[in-house]
Amino acid sequence: MSANTIRKAKKLVESGGVVKIEEDLFQIKSSSDPEKSYFVTSDTCECPGFKNFYKFHHGKGLKANCSHLEAIRIFKEKSD
Ligand SMILES: [Zn+2]
Repeated sequence: MSANTIRKAKKLVESGGVVKIEEDLFQIKSSSDPEKSYFVTSDTCECPGFKNFYKFHHGKGLKANCSHLEAIRIFKEKSD
C-alpha cells in the first residue's frame, strides 16, 4: 500500500471522518468530495477505487485496499 493511502487514511480518522454505525459497519467521508460518504466494512468498501481494483485484478488472489479500509484499521487500533 502506498504511503499516500496511509496518509489519507490517517487524515480521515483524525478529522472525524470515520463514524462507527455497527460492529462491522462504518460510514467514512470521501476525501475528494465532502458531500459524499461511503459505507465500509472491515473488508469491503463502496468507493470506486476498491471496485476498480477487483475489476482490474480479478482472480489474481489479491486483496483490494483503499484509504477507507485503512482508515478503519487505524480507527480500530485507536479505540482498543
Ligand atoms: Zn474505499
